[in-house]
Amino acid sequence: MAEVIDGKIVAEDVVQKVKALTADLIAKGKAKPGLAVVIVGEDPASQVYVASKSRTAKECGFHSLQHTLPADTSEEALLKIIGELNADPAVNGILVQLPLPVHIDAGKIIQAIAPQKDVDGFHFINVGKLGTGELETAFVPCTPAGSMLLIERVRGKDLSGLNAVVVGRSNIVGKPMANLLLAANCTVTIAHSRTKDLPALARTADILVAAVGRPEMVKGDWVKPGATVIDVGINRIPAPEKGEGKTRLVGDVAYAEAAKAAGAITPVPGGVGPMTIAMLMANTLASAYLAAGLKRPSF
Ligand code: NAP
Repeated sequence: MAEVIDGKIVAEDVVQKVKALTADLIAKGKAKPGLAVVIVGEDPASQVYVASKSRTAKECGFHSLQHTLPADTSEEALLKIIGELNADPAVNGILVQLPLPVHIDAGKIIQAIAPQKDVDGFHFINVGKLGTGELETAFVPCTPAGSMLLIERVRGKDLSGLNAVVVGRSNIVGKPMANLLLAANCTVTIAHSRTKDLPALARTADILVAAVGRPEMVKGDWVKPGATVIDVGINRIPAPEKGEGKTRLVGDVAYAEAAKAAGAITPVPGGVGPMTIAMLMANTLASAYLAAGLKRPSF
């Protein structure tokens, strides 16, 4: 059976390191890192995510502020707030919780965030830096950055010569994940809904990342023996065995069968999920170090 990669433990390690490095920064006489989280509307899942981000920011010793705005907030008003946060020296990271209400152009909002405060890593400048290998100053999207740390726990930092297959080509997960694997010297293939014979392609992967959003799509016989399997998917499916109307979370990988072939695998929940918030803290800390003229810490 595969080694289970425990994202809760790795995420907690990251948070503890952020906490210690925040204390170091303050001891050097610098301002504490500041994270501003902006949420528009009352989407319950977004409210939970935002509360968790603000709580972890406080736990890290950050200056944490939250703008909770009504669903009918205009694009202009939101842009004004972004402008104020861009200009605020106490704020190192700005996170606008997605999705935004339909009357607001999310792309326009993301591109209005100052690239050096774009701790989600979605601004074109940061996308370009990642694409060109400028990793010293790039902010990398949190979920793929966290997935990379999980891979490194098993395989080390240099992945030279390994075949990686990333299933999914979203801007938030699939593409940045592929760029990170390429930067670590993997031979990378990105698969998507038009890919032919995905099971055969997946079987070539020493590192297989699933970021699709389809419950348990990746089967056990898609996994090369000994492969490292990273399951980014979070899917809620009916669980009648738990009682009427009950649900449970599963990933994009059929975990029980894949774990028989894999060398190491992330569970869902408790794998990639906890890493996302931890890497948001790491990115905000990095922004504060860079703003203070210091080398950014590595994780
Ligand atoms: P997305 O934007 O919907 O992208 C899904 C990708 O999967 C697309 O590139 C799509 O291909 C591809 N795809 C869909 N059906 C496929 C099929 N049958 N065979 C091969 N490829 C297929 O999703 P996302 O934002 O990247 O998220 C992916 C999953 O990760 C979701 O379950 C999401 O909930 C989860 N997620 C988790 C975290 C976290 O852990 N914190 C963060 C973000 C996302 P096309 O491009 O051809 O359509």
